[in-house]
Amino acid sequence: MNFEWNEDQLELFEHALSFAKDLDFSKFPQGEFPMEAWRALGEFGYFGLPIDAKYSSAGSGFDILTTVKVLEGLGQGCTDTGILFAGAAHTFACAMPIYEHGSEQLKQKLLPLLASGEKIAANAISEAEAGSDIGKLTTKAWRDGDYYVIKGAKSYVTNGSVADYFVLYATTNEKFGYLGQTAFVVPADLPGIDVGNSYKKLGLNSAQLNQVFFDEVKVHKDYVLGSEGQGARIFAASMDWERCCLFALFIGVMQRDLERCIDYANTRKQGDKTISKFQAVSHRIADMEVRLQSARLLLYFAAWQKSQNVDNTKAVASSKLAISEAFVQSGIDSIRVHGALGYLQESGVDSSIRDALGSVLFSGTSDIQRELICNRLGLL
Ligand SMILES: Cc1cc2nc3c(=O)[nH]c(=O)nc-3n(C[C@H](O)[C@H](O)[C@H](O)COP(=O)(O)OP(=O)(O)OC[C@H]3O[C@@H](n4cnc5c(N)ncnc54)[C@H](O)[C@@H]3O)c2cc1C
Repeated sequence: MNFEWNEDQLELFEHALSFAKDLDFSKFPQGEFPMEAWRALGEFGYFGLPIDAKYSSAGSGFDILTTVKVLEGLGQGCTDTGILFAGAAHTFACAMPIYEHGSEQLKQKLLPLLASGEKIAANAISEAEAGSDIGKLTTKAWRDGDYYVIKGAKSYVTNGSVADYFVLYATTNEKFGYLGQTAFVVPADLPGIDVGNSYKKLGLNSAQLNQVFFDEVKVHKDYVLGSEGQGARIFAASMDWERCCLFALFIGVMQRDLERCIDYANTRKQGDKTISKFQAVSHRIADMEVRLQSARLLLYFAAWQKSQNVDNTKAVASSKLAISEAFVQSGIDSIRVHGALGYLQESGVDSSIRDALGSVLFSGTSDIQRELICNRLGLL
C-alpha cells in the first residue's frame, strides 16, 4: 500500500493552493454572485478538471484522485467556500452527467462552454415534496413530436439565478417509479422558465439558491441525457462525483481551520502561558486533526474505488458522512479555540460552521448516507 502522491499531483495541489490564496474576495459584494471570481476559477481550469481536453481547451482530463487533490488545494486556499460550492454543483452535478451520458453532439456543443465556465449550469432535482426521496418527482415531461414538454417546480437549485442550462430530472412514466425518470439539459432562455428570488441562507453566501418553475417548457429530444427512463441512474452517478469532489473542498477548508487553530493556540496567552499548554485546548486540536485525517483517508479510498470501477456506494457514503460531520464539529471547535474572537464575523472563524451546516443536508443528508451504508451492510 502506497499513501504517496506523485510529484505532478503535489505540484498541482500547490498550484491550486497558491492560486486560491491569491484570489482577493474582499472586492466582491457580499451576497451576490461574484462573477469575476467565477471567471478567474474558469481560467484556472476548475470546471474542466475531470473533462477530456478533446472537448475543451479548459479540460484537463484528470483522474478522480488528482481532481480531488486539486480541489483540496482550492478549498484550503480560498476564503469564499460559496463560490467553490457553486463551481462544484456546476461541474460535478451538471457537466459530468453531460460528459458521461450526453450524445456526442451535445457534448461537442456544451462541454466547451461549461468546462471554461463561459456558461453556468444548475442541477434541478429536489422538489417541495421530493428531497431525500426522489422516487416520485411531480415534475412531468411528455413527448410532443421531436420535443418533450416539461412542467413542474424545482426547489433549492444552486446557481438557479445565474444558470444558462439546467440539468433537470422529470417523471416521464409514472408507473415505473425510479425507472420512469428522465434527465434533460434545459437551456435557461427557453420560454416558460421562471426563477424565484435567491434564498437568504446561513452560509455558502456566494452560491445562489433558487426555486425554478417550468411551465410547459419545450425541449428538443436531443437534450435528453442517456435515454428515457435512465434519469435516476444518471443522477446517482452524478452524486458519486459530487460526494467525492465537492467534499474534497471541505477537507481543504478543515485543513486551513486546523492550521489557524494551531497558530492561535501557540500565540494566544492567558496568564503567562500560551493556551496550547492547556490540555483542554491542545486535545481539542488533536481531535480536530484525527477527525480530519480520518475523513480525508475515507475520501481518498472512495475516490480510489471509483477509479477502479467497483461498487463504491459504501465508501462514498462513509466519506461524505465523515467529511460533513467533521466539518460541522471542526467549525464549532475552531470557535471554541478562538474564544469570543471566533464568534465575531470579522474574525472569519465563524464562516466554517455556517458553511458546514449545509454540508450535512445537500448531496444526500447524513441520515441518507447512513441508510446507504446500512443497506450495503445488509441491515435493511
Ligand atoms: C445549500 C443547499 C444547496 C442545495 N443545492 C441543490 C441543488 O443544486 N439541486 C437540488 O436539486 N437540490 C439541492 N439542495 C436540496 C438538497 O438536495 C435537499 O435539501 C436534500 O436532499 C434533503 O431534502 P429536504 O431538504 O427536502 O429534506 P427531507 O428529505 O424532508 O428530510 C428532512 C429530515 O428527514 C430525514 N429523512 C428523510 N428521509 C429519510 C430517510 N429515508 N431515512 C432517514 N432520514 C430521513 C432527513 O435526513 C432530514 O433530517 C440543496 C440544499 C442545500 C441546503
